[in-house]
Amino acid sequence: MKPASFAFGWLALLLSGTAFAQLPIWSGSFTDQGTGQNYNFVMVGNDPSNTGTTNVPVYLIPVVVKFDWTDCQTPYQNTFDPGTKVSNGETAIQNTIDSPVFTSINFTQGQSTNSQYLDAFQRSNFWGVVSSNTSYHTVLNPTLMTAQNIEVPSNDGRAQLYPPYGGCVDGVNPAWFAGQILSLLDTLEQTQDLSNGLALFLVYDVFAGQAPEYTPGGGGYHGWSLTPGLLEFQTYAWAAYNGGTCYQNGNQVPCPFADVTDVTHEVGEWFDDPRTTNRTGCAGDNALEVGDGSVLDQKYPYRGQNNFVYHLQDLKFLPYFRASGGTSWGPGWLSFQQESLTPCQ
Ligand SMILES: [Zn+2]
Repeated sequence: MKPASFAFGWLALLLSGTAFAQLPIWSGSFTDQGTGQNYNFVMVGNDPSNTGTTNVPVYLIPVVVKFDWTDCQTPYQNTFDPGTKVSNGETAIQNTIDSPVFTSINFTQGQSTNSQYLDAFQRSNFWGVVSSNTSYHTVLNPTLMTAQNIEVPSNDGRAQLYPPYGGCVDGVNPAWFAGQILSLLDTLEQTQDLSNGLALFLVYDVFAGQAPEYTPGGGGYHGWSLTPGLLEFQTYAWAAYNGGTCYQNGNQVPCPFADVTDVTHEVGEWFDDPRTTNRTGCAGDNALEVGDGSVLDQKYPYRGQNNFVYHLQDLKFLPYFRASGGTSWGPGWLSFQQESLTPCQ
């Protein structure tokens, strides 16, 4: 993700006042243990030291994406629909709703409580205070919205056979696609105010790719916009559900974006930086993006609803960003799934 011009966002926030239901957010700060400098942040939910459960709406908007250019011929495929049924017979939409992003499971890490993934992550991230305020929770409540459509002209992306990502998948010009998502968001906002939650656009097997080949690369995006006319602060993200079986050189390999991996990346980053204004003292990671980094993969499979095994991308704790110690779960843990990371430089 790229931070937008946030000065305008702050202005809009001031202007919108309390006239509209707003996304629940709280402010905190941490001290960089290298430089001693203080960094303020804004996160989704309420203060972990002294609040209970906060419910946050997530408007799940399936997007059917049709490509004018497809190289997928046997069978011919140019339309990618999150309503597609995947390996367990459920649709990608239903599997997303049933995933630990929106449905509680028992996590063994951190605070071993029955919770959603982001709640478990954040409770662990702030275990230094949550350990004496254990009723702290942030619960995401999904609302399934009407499916939307995007058609991709042949000069902005293509469907293609790409076995490492699971058969026939797509690469799309990320800047162009973000514009399409924003215009869908603007249209939706004209009939319903979504600004008290996250507008999450779910695509199926659509990834960012670069011209001219549009080989699928990274996944989605999270950001915010101002609702037309209302000058409200609206957070949004797009993310891909990946339903394929992935191969490299003829051998089956773990899919880099298996099932809800990309959803956990974007929703996780939104959770800890909804306004894309949070900064750190790290030269390489100067934005507080808890999902970024090449080593962050899905370390553990998690068994969710209907015995389906989900792959949740790991997310970084504050000490990874050189926050002074004692806040997060487990001495030395720099991420929820305890990958071997070193603090950022
Ligand atoms: Zn990211």
